[in-house]
Amino acid sequence: MRGFGRAAIGLLATIGVVMVGHGGELSAQPESTRNVSPEPSTASRERDFVQWINEFRAEALAQGISGATFDFAFADVGLNQSVLDSNEKQPEFERQIWTYVAGAVSTYRIEQGQKLLRQHKALLDDIQQSYGVDRQYLMAIWGLETSFGKVKGNIYAVEALASLAFRGRRTAYGRRELLALLTILEKGYATKFQLFGSWAGAMGHTQFIPSAYLAYGVDHDGDGKRDLWSSLPDVFASTANYLSQARWRPGQTWGREVVLPEGFDYSLADRTIVKSVADWTKRGVRAARGTLESDKNIVGVLLLPGGYNGPAFLVYHNYRALMTYNNSTAYALAVAHLADRIKGGATFKGTWPVDEPALSKADRFDLQGLLIALGYDPGEADGIVGQKTRAAFRLYQQDIGEPADGFPTQTLLARLRRDTAQE
Ligand code: CA
Repeated sequence: MRGFGRAAIGLLATIGVVMVGHGGELSAQPESTRNVSPEPSTASRERDFVQWINEFRAEALAQGISGATFDFAFADVGLNQSVLDSNEKQPEFERQIWTYVAGAVSTYRIEQGQKLLRQHKALLDDIQQSYGVDRQYLMAIWGLETSFGKVKGNIYAVEALASLAFRGRRTAYGRRELLALLTILEKGYATKFQLFGSWAGAMGHTQFIPSAYLAYGVDHDGDGKRDLWSSLPDVFASTANYLSQARWRPGQTWGREVVLPEGFDYSLADRTIVKSVADWTKRGVRAARGTLESDKNIVGVLLLPGGYNGPAFLVYHNYRALMTYNNSTAYALAVAHLADRIKGGATFKGTWPVDEPALSKADRFDLQGLLIALGYDPGEADGIVGQKTRAAFRLYQQDIGEPADGFPTQTLLARLRRDTAQE
């Protein structure tokens, strides 16, 4: 996702949830629509953009970017409407997590991941030795980000980031990453003709944003360049270094699928409730396959990403490291599961509530408005079901005597509508 770097966590919280911005998805879209059907405001917006570039130029030069680098980078850059559209996009229906995971952990990605693991064995031995990150996670991230380098994105990153910096809800992100990108050019780490990627400025095989490139990029093949576009040694080492710097714990897994006992208190499935695996075991939590014995000294959080009717997971420290790569439960679970499958692991034992229809955008706004009307605090009514909305919904579930899994369904939304009407 697009491989937003760790520095972009705030942004990812939003992008991750709605699952947009992958290089793969973007490649199917027109590169730019800005000259196709000019609206009355287009010309004046273009003029504003040119003026913005001039103002930003002064700021970049004050930060040590040379005029020559800046002008070369910005030659032929225009306001990219498709980037602006992607930035504002909020899907009508959020994909349910099981739909995303099933699409992400495809037979192709599993088999290709296994093949590439064998093909690059010597290199991956070396990198696992140096960074302590198990190789299957690198294959999984590579597979999810760009289908193993096949779909790296074709939007000029300067144009993408300048468009984001100019207007919309990620101007601070765009500005910061644009300055980092200009630094990459100024220092000669990469050429202008390499700087293509996703609409959000994520580039290369594992979709690093410019600040992540500067902070975590590694020249592993020793040619003097950190080349995340065409050197697999650099790509694998940089991705491993990224996870390592996110305090990856060597030798530990990401977590495990578990089963919960009858009558379990589902409100414990909350990312703020952290307990040792030994503690979870005392509460009757068991591994879905095998045992939790080898994990008993690890701490974990219980995750019910599809509600109490779906599979349950205990997730550990390394799951959080995966979340720093892209702050989305669906993404982290997909990487984790794909990694397990590449290593020969089994499918989930629990079944997803696949007949549960997704909430529409209108439903999500409605949910938040109704919770507010009943005195709960789901945060700002923004149509995004995040941590705060789930917590408020969980309290509502407790108050009506339903399993408090924080997972809003159409059935419970209908109940909430009735309860609010009776107030
Ligand atoms: Ca290199």
